Amino acid sequence: MARDMTLNRLTERIWFFPFEEERDRPNLSYIRGDRWSLAVDAGHSADHTAAFYRALEAANLPLPALTVLTHWHWDHTFGMHAVHGLTLANARTNARLLAFRERLAREGREFFLAMHETIRKEYAGNAPVVVTPADMVFTGEILLDAGNCPVRAFQAEAPHTDDSTLIYAPGEKVLLLGDAEGGVFPTWEKDPALCKKLADTIEGLDVDICLESHWTPDTKRGTIDNLLEISQ
Ligand SMILES: [Zn+2]
Repeated sequence: MARDMTLNRLTERIWFFPFEEERDRPNLSYIRGDRWSLAVDAGHSADHTAAFYRALEAANLPLPALTVLTHWHWDHTFGMHAVHGLTLANARTNARLLAFRERLAREGREFFLAMHETIRKEYAGNAPVVVTPADMVFTGEILLDAGNCPVRAFQAEAPHTDDSTLIYAPGEKVLLLGDAEGGVFPTWEKDPALCKKLADTIEGLDVDICLESHWTPDTKRGTIDNLLEISQ
């Protein structure tokens, strides 16, 4: 039985529940406003979401009123049915989730488990695979304010998937990238033109810390350099 992980604090208002390679669990981030709090990404399964919430409770932080998704991939979204409060995704992410749910209903879960060993580990013991669409859907950009804490969620072109939402907290100078700077699953190939577009997007933001979902926090410069190495 794995020991419960604790939250890492990134800034005054932002924490994250750290990633785990074994089950391909991404960082789950948490932004606390004066009036309400939001989470970024739901988790790989209900079990992952529950572990995140135990860490929030241990830190005396209220459960999120809203969970915003960075992209549709299972390790970020299949815990959506277990979240506290509402969920928000861009329209393309929501369409991908609905299509995946239909495929699961049509073909059963075997094709999903066959996709990767980390998925079989997450869903060991016959844990149910449940896919839920978002409660709220946006296109382009949405500005949230959790109470003296503006948060901008916006779609951006990126090499990982075509449905990336970046989460930017300007007051904290933090950018949450999801897997946006990674390559395509499962080959991890990166399109240099999309790397350049994402690097330009990050360049235009006033940011001190960038957090990618399967890695530790990095500087803006480190993140951009990592992207541009590929496109040179
Ligand atoms: Zn992904």
